Amino acid sequence: MQLCNVRRRTKAKFIGRRSSLAQAHPSVCTPELAVGYLYNRRSMQLAPTTEQLLEIHGRIRACVACRLHETRTQAVPGYGPVEARIMAVGEAPGEKEDQQGRPFVGAAGKLLTELVESIGLTRRDLYITNTVRCRPPGNRDPEPDEVSACSHFLDEQIALLRPDVILILGRHALLRLLPESAGISRLHGERVVRDDRVYVPLYHPAAALYNGSLRETLFADMQRVRAYLDEAESLRAARRATAGERESADQLSLFAL
Ligand code: SF4
Repeated sequence: MQLCNVRRRTKAKFIGRRSSLAQAHPSVCTPELAVGYLYNRRSMQLAPTTEQLLEIHGRIRACVACRLHETRTQAVPGYGPVEARIMAVGEAPGEKEDQQGRPFVGAAGKLLTELVESIGLTRRDLYITNTVRCRPPGNRDPEPDEVSACSHFLDEQIALLRPDVILILGRHALLRLLPESAGISRLHGERVVRDDRVYVPLYHPAAALYNGSLRETLFADMQRVRAYLDEAESLRAARRATAGERESADQLSLFAL
């Protein structure tokens, strides 16, 4: 009976904490993020990486470094859990994203979720952001100086999340992340490794919405992403095993002293 009461109190405390997090960070503190964190850590404090991500999001929302801040309703920092294995980088927020403060809402976002689910993952494995975080007026292309002003935020997010794979969605994101590379039609689905990071250029989901063959290509490319993720997982397991062996060897040498 007492145990039941403790569980009830813990659950109420958890729900209260989750809703206060969501109120404090409406566009960034996803239920997935809060649930993942709280259940994983069994704690009422935010993990340091979550704190850091929210801090970056806060700076983006307050940013006035380029002219796009003058016409935005709100900035769109990013969306998804800090432990996501895949980061997707698109071009810029559109009208709905600007209103809701979240990237890839609407049909293109739905297709992106379908793509992730097609390789056996869920939304919890995906963090989404853009090369610029404020909507260009009339959905025009972002100008190079706007992309450049926003650039350091993306670098910070990538460095913090360290995803296994970074999906580059469309030509603008490709220009920002792999400026020297070939075009999207040559590179889509390929793995490109730069500075120890794995990038996979893909067609933008919005372009595939009304084009059946592009849609098929996107789903086929995602199967290749699945293989890249599996390789990353095997590599991680091998590193863990090596670290474990090293630790055991260190312990043995301590006994030998
Ligand atoms: S687009 Fe980026 S650099 Fe420009 S105001 Fe928005 S957050 Fe700042």
